[in-house]
Amino acid sequence: TTASKALMETPGSSWKSGSSVPYSALCKTFEKIEDTTKRLQITAYLTAFLKEVIRLSPQDLVACVYLCLNRIGPEYEGKELGIGESILMKAVAQATGRTTQSIKADMDIEGDLGSVAQASKGNQKTMFPPPPLTVSSVLKTLQEIAAITGTSSQALKIAKINKLLVACKDNEPKYLIRSLEGKLRIGLAELTVLPALAHACVLSTSAVKKLSEERRTLLLAEAAATLKHVYNELPNYDEIIPALLKYGIDGLPEKCKLRPGVPLKPMLAHPTKSLTEVLNRFENLTFTCEYKYDGERAQIHLLEDGSMKIYSRNSENLSPKYPDIMESLPKVFKSNVKSFVLDCEAVAWDREKNCILPFQVLSTRKRKDVTTADIQVQVCVFAFDILFLNGQALTTSTLKRRREMLYEHFNEVPGIFTFAKHMESTDVEDIQTFLNLAVEGNCEGLMVKTLEHEASYEPSKRSRNWLKVKKDYLSGVGDTFDLVVIGGYNGRGKRTGWYGGFLLACYDEDKEEYQTICKLGTGFTEEDLAQHVTALNEHKIDKPKPYYDWTDTPGLRPDVWFEPVQVWEIKAADLSISPTHKAAMGLVHANKGVSLRFPRFLRIREDKKAEQATTASQVADFYRSQSINSTSAPLEDC
Ligand code: ATP
Repeated sequence: TTASKALMETPGSSWKSGSSVPYSALCKTFEKIEDTTKRLQITAYLTAFLKEVIRLSPQDLVACVYLCLNRIGPEYEGKELGIGESILMKAVAQATGRTTQSIKADMDIEGDLGSVAQASKGNQKTMFPPPPLTVSSVLKTLQEIAAITGTSSQALKIAKINKLLVACKDNEPKYLIRSLEGKLRIGLAELTVLPALAHACVLSTSAVKKLSEERRTLLLAEAAATLKHVYNELPNYDEIIPALLKYGIDGLPEKCKLRPGVPLKPMLAHPTKSLTEVLNRFENLTFTCEYKYDGERAQIHLLEDGSMKIYSRNSENLSPKYPDIMESLPKVFKSNVKSFVLDCEAVAWDREKNCILPFQVLSTRKRKDVTTADIQVQVCVFAFDILFLNGQALTTSTLKRRREMLYEHFNEVPGIFTFAKHMESTDVEDIQTFLNLAVEGNCEGLMVKTLEHEASYEPSKRSRNWLKVKKDYLSGVGDTFDLVVIGGYNGRGKRTGWYGGFLLACYDEDKEEYQTICKLGTGFTEEDLAQHVTALNEHKIDKPKPYYDWTDTPGLRPDVWFEPVQVWEIKAADLSISPTHKAAMGLVHANKGVSLRFPRFLRIREDKKAEQATTASQVADFYRSQSINSTSAPLEDC
């Protein structure tokens, strides 16, 4: 096939062994990748490029991988690009000797500043061309740009971007600008980069040439699985890639392991719509029901040096938000405990009445510069898992064993640190009673988990070994949706001065685009509406992003567009096929999308980035499961 041919080929124009990888070689690969939508082909192009990097300039492999992922360091360090459009337009204008107005005018037609920059550079003649850009120098400058803060930061950033742009050739401006915007949009995600990196490593070894086609395919698949597993436990390319180059794929799991101080991606649960569905799934397995607490996920790490870190569901460092947890935790673990990683939920707690408070209370807690003395909202930590203890990863142990370890090494301190409440029974009435108790106690519902078989901790996976049963599901569509706000409609009457409604979108990971799914106008309090105006107006944009998929009809076109920054949790009555909305188009219907009926606003999801919104394929799954369960045919939206 073409894909396997490309896999064996090396990119035509290579560079000298030992020298830095030219940025142009990376951009050529990006161009090829952008021209196809076939996943296999994309992996093959990237594999071929990375193989060359390993052969000629292994010292640049980390930089190449970061640029492919459009990152400037480990995700959990939170350093991001995403330079504003106005700064970038000024930089493009300066570097190409054009006016900002003319760049803006081209942008209005073209829609993509990267392409405008490329076209503008193309017309330009340079007398003394600067030396070609290299992958490592580009990454270094991007890191420097991201680190600039303070009063004259805009001018400093523009100067650095300008310098890069002046040195750009051919298609380099396009990808450079897109990297600076924080969105490369060529179809490369970790899902593709990890297997390509694994394949490149395997194909770089001489032994592989002697293998049969079948054996080689198997080896590539195994390598990709190993690398993915290692990355899920230690998501840091600065550590993984040098080890990969030194010890190969086979030596990697031994060298790169889960370690306190590096947050692993949490295991996620599958939604279910009824207790019968849970019992059917776990028919021949032992399982446990736990309260599903309604707060914020907190992965708590104790490092060997005695320091402590708390990370969010998103691997964001929450330590500055929870100094109270950091102070009280040393009281809860026993003296023989030297290091650990716990999976917990931090929940708002009423110290007088000794009870859980709703999530809305927790969301009023300050996120930054918190001092213990100023804390208004107290929290209690509910621990439900332990993933590492005293130098040992526990992810492959069963939940039964992990729970034993948790109970053995930690003490409960009421109102400060408690184990998640649990119950084991296969009787549907017992489970229903436990669910009712959970809901009465201000919990969201239950988490039902396998206990002894198929009961390991699966980092980053939405696993069928963890099922969530929310009280709302039992009447609704199975789960709430986490959607991105991309547009606003000016309010009228009582809502004058606020937005009266919003346009929401889900995220399509394959196409890297936001697809509209519904208009939303209910569920808001007056405070919510006032808060949305303040927060969203900071992210107004003149026109929709080129990666928004929507239908331009008078009924749908919003008065104001927003950058994709806020994620909202939405409840809906059901889903229907829609001629206007684009969500999951092509997945359930060839040329119609899916939309939510009767959506209601529940809350802002501070802990999710836009790209972690409900995906198009999840929308398609919800739609399909609804069609299976409902007696009538799904409704057509009007
Ligand atoms: P998802 O992560 O599935 O997209 P989400 O972030 O909205 O969705 P939920 O669907 O609410 O998460 O369910 C999983 C979350 O429930 C966990 O991330 C965790 O924060 C919380 N949680 C509360 N109690 C437990 C528990 N006992 N076990 C596991 N998770 C729990």
